[in-house]
Amino acid sequence: MSRTVRIVDIVDGTAVDGPGLRTSIYTAGCAHCCPECHNRHTWPFDSGRDMTVQELLEQVERNGFNVTFSGGDPMYQAAALAPLAAEIRSRGYNVWCYTGFTFEELARMPEATEFMRHIDVLVDGPFIASRRRDGLHFRGSDNQRILDLPASLAAGHAVELARYAGM
Ligand code: SF4
Repeated sequence: MSRTVRIVDIVDGTAVDGPGLRTSIYTAGCAHCCPECHNRHTWPFDSGRDMTVQELLEQVERNGFNVTFSGGDPMYQAAALAPLAAEIRSRGYNVWCYTGFTFEELARMPEATEFMRHIDVLVDGPFIASRRRDGLHFRGSDNQRILDLPASLAAGHAVELARYAGM
C-alpha cells in the first residue's frame, strides 16, 4: 500500500460520476487529446500531487461513499490503482472508472486488464464532441458505453449495463 498515484483532485460527494454520492478520484495524465475536452488541466502526467494508496484508501473510508476513478485517464496508472480498487471493493464499496480507451483496447493490455478485474462499471471510449446529445446519463457522448465489467470480462466482449443502455 506504499505505492503512489499521481492525483489532480478528489471530490468528496459528487453526484455526476455515477449513481448516488461518490468519492471521485481524478488521476493525472491523458494522451487521448479529445477535442473540446473539459479537463485539459489533467493532461500533463506531472500535474497534481503524489498520494499513497493508503492515503487514498483512508479518504475513501472517511467519506463512506462508492468510488469513481476519472481523470485524466486512470488506465495510465493501472498497476498502482488495481490493488487500491481491490481493497476498496473488499470494504463493500462499488467502483466506477472512466477511460478514453475502449474495452477492446484495454483487454489487450495486461495491467489494464488486471485493474478491470477490480472495477464494477467502466465508462469507455473517447469524448467525441459531435456525438454529444441531451439526456445521456453519466457520459459525454453517445459513443461511450457504460459497461458491466464483471459480465464483460466473463463473456470476453463488452456487455452494456442494461439499465443505462440507450440512455
Ligand atoms: S479521455 Fe477524457 S480527459 Fe482524456 S482527452 Fe478525452 S475527454 Fe479529456
